[in-house]
Amino acid sequence: MPPAYIQLYEQNLLTERVNEALEHLKRCDLCGWRCKVDRTANKQGVCKTGLNALVSSFAPHHGEEKPLRGYHGSGTIFFSSCNMRCVYCQNYQISHFRQGREYSINELAAAMIELQNRGCHNINLVSPSHVIPQIIAAIANAASIGLQIPIVYNTGGYDSLEGLSLLDGIVDIYLPDMKYSSAAIAQKYSKIPNYPQINQNAVKEMHRQVGDLVLDKNGIAKKGLIIRHLVLPHDLAGSEQILRFIAEQISSTTYLNIMDQYYPAYNARQYPELNRPIKTTEYQGVIEMAHSFGLHRLD
Ligand code: SF4
Repeated sequence: MPPAYIQLYEQNLLTERVNEALEHLKRCDLCGWRCKVDRTANKQGVCKTGLNALVSSFAPHHGEEKPLRGYHGSGTIFFSSCNMRCVYCQNYQISHFRQGREYSINELAAAMIELQNRGCHNINLVSPSHVIPQIIAAIANAASIGLQIPIVYNTGGYDSLEGLSLLDGIVDIYLPDMKYSSAAIAQKYSKIPNYPQINQNAVKEMHRQVGDLVLDKNGIAKKGLIIRHLVLPHDLAGSEQILRFIAEQISSTTYLNIMDQYYPAYNARQYPELNRPIKTTEYQGVIEMAHSFGLHRLD
């Protein structure tokens, strides 16, 4: 199964999509914030990113989910800045302090080709929501010089339907977080309004586009949805409601990574309730809950 974007490239439709995406940049509605600023004039919204994408680094990554890392790694490209502001962010130098430099479209395409040449199984775009047009332009460029591995959209899940519609037929694998089931808690710890509603609508749209995760005969992801859920201390994430939503409104055969790696990074120590790792019993409780909802494809 060739990646989705190859078909659009062969039908000469990627250029059209780039132009459509650039129109969205003029009144930016690419993510859940819908700031409506003109980023083509280098105006900045919440993500503090103008016309050009900033990249922190790119390299094969061996810590992702097994179907993504495979045998040769997932080809991660870390975009600087983020549309979320999590107080416990483990990559805060990149997301909050915007460590990195501007990449032209050609440089971004060259990074994709280099990752493919290094044997990576996919191109894994980390924190991509605020740079969708730049990504589509780079994929169009890279496809013309031989890119042929799947595209992974690795997002905190605060994505707009407008932004996601631009990616229909381009992204092969969606990898969203589902972080919170309470809007008030999301506002407190990630400084974003209305996260659960925006996140759930986004995940529904992602699943509509790509369906459940499909693996090849070697267990490598080719297409579909992988959801990440980070367990927080004191059940601040509201795990039960998230798992129920996945089982009842997405699919009970959703591939799910319930993550136990929370630790109090960045400003988390200012919040006593966040100032500890999670307990084994908390993690096991969420795993058992997933099983009780019939969710069995766990990473
Ligand atoms: S990507 Fe999101 S945060 Fe950035 S300007 Fe657009 S709507 Fe605002």
